[in-house]
Amino acid sequence: MQVIDGAKPILVTGAGGYIASWIIEFLLEKGYLVRGTVRSLSVNDRLAHLEAMTKNHDGRLELFEADLLKHGSFSKAMDGCELVFHTASPFKFQGVKDPQKELIDPALEGVRNVLLTAEETPSVRRVVLTSSAAAIYGDAREIEDQPNRMFTEHVWNLSSSIDHQPYSYSKTVAEREAWNMAGQQMRWDLVVMNPAFVLGPSLSRRTDSTSTGFILSLLKGTFKSGAPDLYYGVVDVRDIAQAHILAGFTPAASGRHLLCNQSMSFLEIAQVIRAEYGDRFPLPKRKIPKPLLQLIAPMVGLTRKYVKNNVGYRPVFDNSRSLEKLHVFYRPIRETLLDQTAQLIQDGFLD
Ligand code: NAP
Repeated sequence: MQVIDGAKPILVTGAGGYIASWIIEFLLEKGYLVRGTVRSLSVNDRLAHLEAMTKNHDGRLELFEADLLKHGSFSKAMDGCELVFHTASPFKFQGVKDPQKELIDPALEGVRNVLLTAEETPSVRRVVLTSSAAAIYGDAREIEDQPNRMFTEHVWNLSSSIDHQPYSYSKTVAEREAWNMAGQQMRWDLVVMNPAFVLGPSLSRRTDSTSTGFILSLLKGTFKSGAPDLYYGVVDVRDIAQAHILAGFTPAASGRHLLCNQSMSFLEIAQVIRAEYGDRFPLPKRKIPKPLLQLIAPMVGLTRKYVKNNVGYRPVFDNSRSLEKLHVFYRPIRETLLDQTAQLIQDGFLD
């Protein structure tokens, strides 16, 4: 049980990221003082939207430089904060050459670094960690083994490894380490967010977030001749940001929170957008048969094991804990997908 003093500054790590930017925007709208960490203060186009937020909110957002791999780099930003949102962690499914260096080290060392700093910072009362549904399950076929065919917060991902689904592995080891470190002290508590696949409009013009990149590739025709029959739990980025804030300020918040609106296939996502835009975008209309995908998997950046264990399985998520404990609001997914498409059009990415 923690009551956070709303007059103290609030820290958000990875401030320039897709989810963190919305957390910061909502905190500023609610009148809080916010500190954000970014890897580099000198890369201006990545920071443009944060600089605009500072201007629009009377300078209540202050930016600091910090790297997940540099011990002590979060100290200055955390000093005097009671509430810390630790969102920074690499989020990449594809194009990873060295999973240890690109995913596991920054996720795990980042949690160690940020929580050690929380340990050394007497003001800290609560850390809200952005983990993932990827720390709950690895392959979608695991849904077949769940009671009631639903993933819940009781489940831990036991199937991912450095060689198979390394992003999911990075989130799993990082969350486990966070619980381990939180359990060794009494001053601050840990509340964990486990979002499914987050979609919806971006506040920045960055397209390097996996969430933005996915919808952009769908709209640009990457899957026009056929989409893999893959299913993700989908949830709106604005609802995820509000869920983090609820987790930060609900005194009795505790434990893990699976955050998901509904499970959808690539084709179902495409159908929602097509219903609004007709044939304006080269969206997929059919599935790639699983045996064909098995055959060509390495050519499209997938492993045969991934195809075997994920294609054709619809994971289902129990979000009742987030509704009951945090009163999270989930907007209709149609709004999420259409707002994201509209943002990408407006920002000129689909010309
Ligand atoms: P994002 O836009 O790619 O943000 C990732 C953030 O991590 C960026 O701010 C990035 O900093 C920061 N980061 C990466 N490596 C770093 C390092 N070595 N030192 C400091 N910062 C580093 O992705 P996102 O979707 O907002 O993800 C935020 C969090 O949500 C991650 O923990 C991710 O695992 C989790 N999550 C995301 C989803 C989703 O669908 N989007 C779902 C579940 C969980 P730069 O700005 O400098 O690049």
